[in-house]
Amino acid sequence: VDRFLDHAATWHGAREIVSREGDGSLTRLDYAWLHQTAKRVSNALARAGVGPGDRVATMGWNSARHLAAWYGATNMGAVLHTLNPRLFAEQIAYIADHAGDRILLADPACAALVGPLLAAAPSIEQVVFLCAAAELPATDYPAVAFDEWIADELAEYTWGGFDERLACGLCYTSGTTGNPKGVLYSHRSNYLHTMMTLQADALALTTRDTVLLIVPMYHANAWGVVYSAPAVGAKLVLPGARMDGESIYRLIEDEGVTFSAAVPTVWQGLLHYLRQSGARFSTLKRVVIGGSAPPEALIRAFQDEYGVDVIQGWGMTETSPLATLSTPSPEVLEQSYDEQVRRKGMQGRLVCGLEFKLTDDEGNRLPHDGRTAGRLKIKGPTITSGYFGGEGGNVLDEDGFFDTGDVSTIDPAGYMQITDRAKDIVKSGGEWISSIEIENIAVGHPEVALAAVIGIAHPKWDERPILLIQRHAEATCGRAELLSFLDGKIARWWMPDDVVVVEEIPLGATGKIDKKLLRQRMAGYVL
Ligand code: ATP
Ligand code: MG
Repeated sequence: VDRFLDHAATWHGAREIVSREGDGSLTRLDYAWLHQTAKRVSNALARAGVGPGDRVATMGWNSARHLAAWYGATNMGAVLHTLNPRLFAEQIAYIADHAGDRILLADPACAALVGPLLAAAPSIEQVVFLCAAAELPATDYPAVAFDEWIADELAEYTWGGFDERLACGLCYTSGTTGNPKGVLYSHRSNYLHTMMTLQADALALTTRDTVLLIVPMYHANAWGVVYSAPAVGAKLVLPGARMDGESIYRLIEDEGVTFSAAVPTVWQGLLHYLRQSGARFSTLKRVVIGGSAPPEALIRAFQDEYGVDVIQGWGMTETSPLATLSTPSPEVLEQSYDEQVRRKGMQGRLVCGLEFKLTDDEGNRLPHDGRTAGRLKIKGPTITSGYFGGEGGNVLDEDGFFDTGDVSTIDPAGYMQITDRAKDIVKSGGEWISSIEIENIAVGHPEVALAAVIGIAHPKWDERPILLIQRHAEATCGRAELLSFLDGKIARWWMPDDVVVVEEIPLGATGKIDKKLLRQRMAGYVL
């Protein structure tokens, strides 16, 4: 069992935890509060009959009560299952039923989702709203407010005493390419993952940091930060539901945030706000960008214009989640600034303890020469060996490697660069065209807000790429403008056969472009 919260309460008990509530107000708490509240939650769960291995679900934004529920559940042996409220109601019902959740702790803002969920997931016995008694939403099903639920519980509970290989968490993949799949995290892998990512050449967090947890707690990427902040006693800021550029900026400045992690679309929104308002950062030093590939223009803007050190991270729910970081190696630090920034545009090198290889479709190893693209496979103590419910059977090959479903190159210095998802790559005339690379150049155009490349069936070449763009408000750029912008920046062969301006490029629940939906929308399109 993890001791991170015990450690934080013992040595950094007065260190602040700031939580932005639904009404925008800030609640100021500390690690001593989190420790005691989590113990009350453990007692309340035990009273409800929850035991080791039982699933306890949360559904909500990043808040202090959510965090207390998280620790209270995992530390008493239950399996914390974080449900994503941004999914469609049917997807949430599918997942909660699949997981067999027994208790649901939900944000009051999610009340409308809970009723249908109870009908679809009969395993749920009790609903607790993550709020004060006075804020309990009116519902036509029985529910209790979190503060009331734990009010009479003791703030003492002896955590631990179970096998470290037992599960403590259940996280579903984002559902970008198909139905979300459940991944179990053990106490052991969670502990290892936290220690691996805290290292000096990884996240390098210290007691002096103030960490803004932008990555939603319902996404796998939050697992690293949720544990590493208490492990070092960093001040923790929980932003609630609002993720627009301005409100993120205000929290960063008002709370003195030094470090944060988020998907590229969040940083893109923040950058847009900075440029419009002329605002500057006074404390922010380092950010991790990951979850999907960030455009180089975004990295350059944070580095060059705002003096913020950008680290790219790559990982998947199945890798618990962080697996590579683009922190510079000693050799890269000796090179020019431009070369250092170019390296940050790569997904980076493995965190300590992991191994990877590239193979062709038959499983034969390919060279790590920085040019040859192949299927990326990964191995190590924090990599899953299968999905919850046994879906897909054993997912490891005979050498114990997990197939990531990503296609990438690896250079001799160990820098990995994603070419594309295997499912998104455009296969044209026997060659592979990386949708990511074209998209990231296209969003470098000042009028383009979002860009997505999809393959369209072609009688001669199998598939050809087309580029879809969503423009910033009042922008006027079109097909000809974009094609001339791309000209010379990508190979002739990669030039999209068409550029289509769309009202909206749909984003999935974790802020990634939903290409499944885009392909459906473009189903009638012919080249
Ligand atoms: P599903 O598996 O359900 O289709 P998903 O793969 O989006 O959804 P996650 O586990 O959240 O679910 O995301 C992992 C994937 O995100 C990786 O396989 C990779 O394709 C992509 N990804 C993560 N970080 C990066 C990055 N820095 N650059 C490019 N791609 C990234
Ligand atoms: Mg995936």
